[in-house]
Amino acid sequence: MQRRNFLRAGAATLASLAASQAMADELGNFAPPRQLAAVRAKADRIIDINVCRRPFRAQGPRIESEQRYGKTIVHHYGHGGAGWSLSWGSAQLALPLIRASGPKQIAVIGCGAIGLTTARVAQMNGMKVRIYCKERPPEVASSKATGMWSPDSRICSSEHATPAWTQAWEQMARSSFKTYQSLLGLADQPVEWRDGYFLSDIPFDQPLPDSAHGGEDDESDEPDYPDLMAQLDDLRPRSVLLKPGSHPFRVAHAKRFTQMSFNISSYQRLLMDDFLRAGGEIVQQEFEHPRQFGNLRERTVVNCTGYGARALLGDTSIIPVRGQTARLVPQIEVDYALIYRGHNLFMLPRRDGVLVQAQGEHDFGNEDTRIDRALSVAAVERLASLFA
Ligand SMILES: Cc1cc2nc3c(=O)[nH]c(=O)nc-3n(C[C@H](O)[C@H](O)[C@H](O)COP(=O)(O)OP(=O)(O)OC[C@H]3O[C@@H](n4cnc5c(N)ncnc54)[C@H](O)[C@@H]3O)c2cc1C
Repeated sequence: MQRRNFLRAGAATLASLAASQAMADELGNFAPPRQLAAVRAKADRIIDINVCRRPFRAQGPRIESEQRYGKTIVHHYGHGGAGWSLSWGSAQLALPLIRASGPKQIAVIGCGAIGLTTARVAQMNGMKVRIYCKERPPEVASSKATGMWSPDSRICSSEHATPAWTQAWEQMARSSFKTYQSLLGLADQPVEWRDGYFLSDIPFDQPLPDSAHGGEDDESDEPDYPDLMAQLDDLRPRSVLLKPGSHPFRVAHAKRFTQMSFNISSYQRLLMDDFLRAGGEIVQQEFEHPRQFGNLRERTVVNCTGYGARALLGDTSIIPVRGQTARLVPQIEVDYALIYRGHNLFMLPRRDGVLVQAQGEHDFGNEDTRIDRALSVAAVERLASLFA
């Protein structure tokens, strides 16, 4: 991977969560109302490691319908690293296509973030939905995601971010955001707002040295990504640049940010429960070819197969972007996220464990789902280095 792109895809994608480009940071003290609990970052506390592939499309998600095999097929896939974040709004964009097909009984193929939210939005609009899928949570790729509000993460390439595209993205993001605010304060905390700290060895206005990214000769053709988050500046509190020495982390520079996050295990359980309670059915079925859609009872089929659409439809516009996360034994007292700039480290406290994500240098175009334990152990060690 070109170093420029590793920066964009890794640190910068995460950094956009923390750094508000349009507004200057406020300068403030750490001003702790209480002590921050240290993460017990040790490799022997790893309880799970997962790998999944982001279904990236340079042109953004495919949301369009076609008539084939005697059905109306509405394609709804390719949400890159932003599937959870954009899901509700994306389903709202797909809804007119689903409605236009007429019947009130529809089939949704796929039970990940996109399939479940599409099914719920259809139900809430008076439709009867049957989900057909190879896997359901917690086996789907969506179950292995990090769980951060990241609506701009690998969602399209700069080249394709036209004004019209950006407007549609913003509509999706705002609509999702609105829905997520209605899921706060519920039992099991499916959605929460968290503070986080964006840490850096060098001042934030200084570019990272090339050595921070490695992979000099990598020839991956990862594209540049557009800076979209500034469009949503009004949806989050401003970040605060902390005075040196006023925070407990072993780095020179820190900013505090506040961001929405998802406890994916309880959140997807809630989605499943709501779907079933509203009369939804789930049928386990794998499709080898889209012509098998023709055998379904429903005349409208919404294809939410995520990365699976690549093989199912032969759609090579879907590029796999590998991602690996580890979970440490839950620490309820750790209630803040961390991003360590230039060190490809992201930590998110979830109810099911302290999630540690490490960017690999060769994630783009990489469909390998084998676990690389050494990568996660190294990330946990970098995390440990931040605490005295
Ligand atoms: C490491 C990592 C971290 C991430 N973190 C975040 C994050 O913090 N926030 C965020 O918003 N997004 C995040 N993402 C991105 C997010 O996970 C994806 O965008 C999202 O999971 C895509 O959901 P999906 O429903 O399209 O796909 P999937 O979850 O893959 O669901 C696809 C469904 O289709 C079914 N299916 C596929 N093929 C077939 C077939 N042939 N026949 C029958 N069924 C089939 C599958 O069984 C499954 O049920 C992350 C991704 C990764 C890899």
